[in-house]
Amino acid sequence: MIIAIDGPAAAGKGTLARRLAKELGLPYLDTGLLYRAVGRRVLDAGVDPADPAAAEAQAKALHPDDLARTDLRGPAADQAASQVASVPGVRAALLAFQRNFATTGGAVLDGRDIGTVIFPDADVKLFVTASVEARAERRWREHQAASLESVTEDLRRRDAMDAARAAAPLRPADDAVLLDTTAMDPNQAFAAALLAVKAQNSE
Ligand code: C5P
Repeated sequence: MIIAIDGPAAAGKGTLARRLAKELGLPYLDTGLLYRAVGRRVLDAGVDPADPAAAEAQAKALHPDDLARTDLRGPAADQAASQVASVPGVRAALLAFQRNFATTGGAVLDGRDIGTVIFPDADVKLFVTASVEARAERRWREHQAASLESVTEDLRRRDAMDAARAAAPLRPADDAVLLDTTAMDPNQAFAAALLAVKAQNSE
C-alpha cells in the first residue's frame, strides 16, 4: 500500500504520516528532508540556492548521510529548501529515490507532490492542511526561537513559493481526501486520517 500525504508546511503531515506508518507497519519517508539536504549542501558550498545549475549539481551529489544531518531545520534551511525545490532538475534528480523507496513493500510518504507527481496512482491520498495562524502557532510552540510574527511570515512566504512554482506546485490531487486539522488535536487528526485511509483503501 502506498499512502501519499501532501500539504503546506507545519500542517502536521509528518506527525500523522509517522503514526500511520507505525500503525500500518509501513516504512516512512519525509521527502521534505531531501530538499532540505540539497538546500544545506548548496549553502555549505557557498553558492546561491536560486542558481538552478548549482542546485541541480548538489541534488545529483546527494548522499544518504546528508539526510541524517542535524542542521536541516530552521529558517535558513527552510528557505534554501523551498528555493532548490522550485528547480525542475533538482526534482528530477530526487524522483527515483522517492519511487524506489516505496516499490518493494509500500510506504507512507509526505511532501508536496507525492499524490500529484511521485505516486499519482497511490492507494491513498491525503491533503493535510490548517489555517496559517494555526500552523504558525504550532511551529512556534515547538521552537520559540523566533517571534510568532516572523514564524507566520516565513510560513506565508514558503506557502506562496511552493504554490506558485511551475515545477510540481503545491496543490491537492483531484482524488485526494482533504483533512483540515485547524481545530483538531494530534489524536483527532490521526483518527480522522486513519478513517480516510481505510475508506480510500477499500474503494
Ligand atoms: O516538508 P518540509 O517543510 O520539510 O519541506 C521543505 C521544503 O521542501 C518545502 O517548503 C518545499 O518547498 C519542498 N518540498 C517539495 N516537495 C516535497 C517535499 C518538500 O517541494 N515533496
